[in-house]
Amino acid sequence: MIRYKHVNKTYTASDAPAVRDLSLTVEDGETMVLLGPSGCGKTTLLKMTNRLIEVSGGTVAIEGEDVARTDPVTLRRRIGYVFQGVGLFPHMTVAENISLVPRLLGWTATRREARARELLALVDLNPDTYADRFPDELSGGQSQRVGVARALAADPQYLLMDEPFGALDTVTRTTLQEEMLRLKSQLGKTIVFVTHDIFEALALGDRIAVLNQGRLEQVGAKEELIRNPASAFVASLFDAPRAQLRAFGHLLNGT
Ligand code: ADP
Ligand code: MG
Repeated sequence: MIRYKHVNKTYTASDAPAVRDLSLTVEDGETMVLLGPSGCGKTTLLKMTNRLIEVSGGTVAIEGEDVARTDPVTLRRRIGYVFQGVGLFPHMTVAENISLVPRLLGWTATRREARARELLALVDLNPDTYADRFPDELSGGQSQRVGVARALAADPQYLLMDEPFGALDTVTRTTLQEEMLRLKSQLGKTIVFVTHDIFEALALGDRIAVLNQGRLEQVGAKEELIRNPASAFVASLFDAPRAQLRAFGHLLNGT
């Protein structure tokens, strides 16, 4: 369980807060989508979870333990992270990129190699073909798969994913969303998934937390947000795509 309690973040004294008094609980095994427009504080909240950014106020607790008091290496083992824009290291092979956290944890080369190959297979990339490639020899979709494999390397219970499919074409994106659903049910991780795409949120979220200007507008299952929006902002999110929502009604029925 991840619990955010009255979390605040102000980057500099003069700026408006990026995250304001935000409280939210992510239950074990659920996928919580953080949904909101660019600049609303999604990445900031995600990075405060694994201390890539420190809170200005409030607490983030994992399994009841304040992350501010948890050693960062321990955090990285427990929490996988998929960066916005992937962020593979260009001078490292795919296998080396996947092995970053295992290396940090002191795994032997043999164990790292075996794990990298296992993960490549899991994200549907042939290890013989891809393990020794460099990032510039991959398509966008393949890079994203490697990014996901890297986040899973130390078998973390928690996964933070920051717009992982944001830069992809629609077809690749849909394929990866479907794979995400497969991985989700296969691995049973607790996932916080950031997106600004309402359809992606509907497809992947067990619950959706809507953020606006650093505040949590509403959190709930998709049916709840659609039927009982707590604010005009939440209602408007579902207004524009309503016609398409009817066409994609199967997503709402959880199939
Ligand atoms: P999102 O991921 O939802 O697009 P961010 O969390 O990246 O939003 O940003 C939230 C707000 O904080 C924005 O106004 C952004 O400009 C600001 N911000 C983000 N990172 C920094 C930073 N390192 N320094 C100052 N302001 C930042
Ligand atoms: Mg962001």
